Amino acid sequence: MTKSTKDGRAKMGSRTRLVHAGRAPFENHGFVNTPIYRGSTVLYPNVEELYARRQRYVYGTKGTPTTDSLEEAWSELSGAAGTVLAPSGLAAIALALFTVARAGGHVLVTDSAYRPTRVFCDSMLAKLGVESTYYDPLIGSGISALMRPNTLAVIVEAPGSQSFEMQDIPAIAAVAHERGACVIMDNTWATPLFFPPHERGVDLAIEAGTKYLSGHSDLLLGLVSANADYWPRLRETYDTMANCAGPEDVFLALRGLRTMELRLREAERQGLALATWLAARPEVERVLHPALPDDPGHAIWKRDFLGSSGLFSVILKPASRKAVAAMLDGFDLFGLGYSWGGFESLVVPFDCAPYRSATEWKPAGPALRFSVGLENIEDLMDDIDRGFARLRAADA
Ligand SMILES: *Cc1c(COP(=O)(O)O)cnc(C)c1O
Repeated sequence: MTKSTKDGRAKMGSRTRLVHAGRAPFENHGFVNTPIYRGSTVLYPNVEELYARRQRYVYGTKGTPTTDSLEEAWSELSGAAGTVLAPSGLAAIALALFTVARAGGHVLVTDSAYRPTRVFCDSMLAKLGVESTYYDPLIGSGISALMRPNTLAVIVEAPGSQSFEMQDIPAIAAVAHERGACVIMDNTWATPLFFPPHERGVDLAIEAGTKYLSGHSDLLLGLVSANADYWPRLRETYDTMANCAGPEDVFLALRGLRTMELRLREAERQGLALATWLAARPEVERVLHPALPDDPGHAIWKRDFLGSSGLFSVILKPASRKAVAAMLDGFDLFGLGYSWGGFESLVVPFDCAPYRSATEWKPAGPALRFSVGLENIEDLMDDIDRGFARLRAADA
């Protein structure tokens, strides 16, 4: 540790925790950052120690000082009993689901879940003999009507992937816990900074570290944190699978961690500025951003969340596919590509209709998702303004 301790930091602010958590300079010759430890074999001083496996590090898959640094810091930030890492956000989702999966069981999955989560449920969980039921993200405590005696977990995500519905997570968690089910949340959008998952009733919280923890679009990483009830089961599942994150990616994530709040606060400011500007444009039907006061999810966001990040969606007024392509293809600053949370702005068109099963996705026009980066906001607005001109010209 640095001189401050985890307990000492408990009363301090999140920025202080991000700077100091998970670092042990004096275990590393005084160097500020934990270096990249690479390795499979860990040597034991004698056969007695080898039998006893008493030492802190026993084998590469079980952890290194580098992975410990990030896991400890993330647990501290999340208010978790423990955290394990995975090589991608999707691998973290799989790890959380494997932790609770049991043949003959059942899971409830929000219809607004990240699409690969659905694919995992419909393929891998189905093969393991676990049935999935999709539910309306706005269901709240109405989830009780869908709970079965064999329901293992309720999977929540707020706001919804691409579609940005807010979920009443404390209400859903209260019902799930009454019925002995685990609450699993994909918390990638808010991060633990803007939604402290375990305080709000989440048992297993997933973060795609690929997004805001990285912040630079240059790594793939997942994290799963657990409260005290689920931590032993999560750790055991991790040890059984040894689906390890790469040491360079973990090191880069630790670097990203130190500035995550600054970047996230800036993403929030930029996101709100752009979302507000877009909401007033004649080409826009509706902006999907829970921190905007007229968003249907705003009251829940305000009650449960401590901030908003720089990812939101927009429904355009009806326009042809060709016009949307003209708008997107001509952008100078907005890159066309998946993933988000980096320093650079991105946009993707999307359509939830083909895979929704509990709710209908029927927007008035084409849907776009923006990830706002750190560019000057006026330049981003100018880029979109020129894009709208191409959109109007193509359909004129
Ligand atoms: C990107 C994303 C993931 C997956 O992260 P990868 O590292 O790309 O596998 C999971 N959940 C959400 C909400 C995401 O946006």
